[in-house]
Amino acid sequence: MREGGDGRGGPGAGGEGLGFETRAIHAGQEPDPATGAVVPPIHLASTYAQEEVGVHRGFEYSRSGNPTRRSLETAIAALEGASHGFAFASGMAAEDAVCRMLKPGDHVVIPDDAYGGTYRLVARVHSDYGIDFSPADLTRPERVRDALGPRTKMLWVETPSNPMLRIADVAALSEMARAHGAVSVVDNTFATPYLQRPLELGADVVVHSTTKYIGGHSDVVGGFVATSNDAVAERVGFLQNATGAVPSPFDCYMLLRGVKTLAVRMERQCASAAAIAEYLAGHDAVASVNYPGLDSHPGHVLASRQMGAFGAMVSFTLREGEDAALKVVASTRVFTLAESLGAVESLIEHPARMTHQSVAGSPLAVDPALVRLSVGLETLQDLILDLERALAGPSGAGAAAASGALSRPGRESPSGG
Ligand code: PLP
Repeated sequence: MREGGDGRGGPGAGGEGLGFETRAIHAGQEPDPATGAVVPPIHLASTYAQEEVGVHRGFEYSRSGNPTRRSLETAIAALEGASHGFAFASGMAAEDAVCRMLKPGDHVVIPDDAYGGTYRLVARVHSDYGIDFSPADLTRPERVRDALGPRTKMLWVETPSNPMLRIADVAALSEMARAHGAVSVVDNTFATPYLQRPLELGADVVVHSTTKYIGGHSDVVGGFVATSNDAVAERVGFLQNATGAVPSPFDCYMLLRGVKTLAVRMERQCASAAAIAEYLAGHDAVASVNYPGLDSHPGHVLASRQMGAFGAMVSFTLREGEDAALKVVASTRVFTLAESLGAVESLIEHPARMTHQSVAGSPLAVDPALVRLSVGLETLQDLILDLERALAGPSGAGAAAASGALSRPGRESPSGG
């Protein structure tokens, strides 16, 4: 575990032996030794005084290392149970650094329902540099085994997946990758370390879009790589400095502020998502609901084993197809029509035309009848009534409004979503 910028250990350093919530609040965040400030200062300095050449207090130049970033790296690494953590300017920058560990001629297996940006990064950026890839259904180990070839150096896992909420067996896939001599990488954005700790399940690397639950307030873009593999850490640390996609000290502060409440936010958001999934599963206009907490979900038993709860993302298809899906996403008032997820605000979106447009026409293309929800922290009854009204169409809107349950004014119609 990296320690704070002053090199002191202290109870806050890595939070070893402490509970999740205690680590979220204290790991890497001991009071400032200079002033006693209980919140890590935002260190804006780009460079640091040296007593003589090479003699300094652990920081030389802020791309290479920054005290506020160090606090964040210590905190999230502690939550993932990792020896090393690296903060990046976005989830994609973190993913890019991990992919840059591959060499021309190498092959990577990715989920056949990977986040669209992950697919785009592999298929349209790294493929130009000689990296080959195969999508595979990670819920079927035999498909993954078939996809692993002599050049496969990485197995990319996303669970729960975006937007289908499929569940992949992290322990089994990590073992398969290890036996093959490949690095296993888990995108833990949807679960967060509060619900799922892939390194404990045997994975080599965890990546995050910290933009989502870790930030939690729709006000910062960030990414993270966590690992306990020293060789991977050395390379990712080198790449972080060499390619320079680092977050600003202010963004690190925002993420530290967000991560402190991750556990309580997740508890409530998961509970609300479970109730919403049950509600949708009983609705006539809905053809199918994807939520790992439902008994009917094919990954339910596995999710119960490898996750602390089932997450706060729900997706569903409309019986009437794409037009109905587009109408629903344009009709809600409490759920905001927007990309992204994981924040206190509930969001609704149409993956085929929004977050997953980059996979249109590819084998990863998303059902246009699919709607994705990110369940936030609003009053559960307001969220359910909002969906009720949107699913019922214009006549239902009147009914819900008449019930008086929705007190907020309607949002303006989204332009360019
Ligand atoms: N991984 C997943 C699962 C995501 O949902 C996203 C963004 O939506 C990313 C990675 C990319 O993160 P960012 O938008 O912070 O670059």
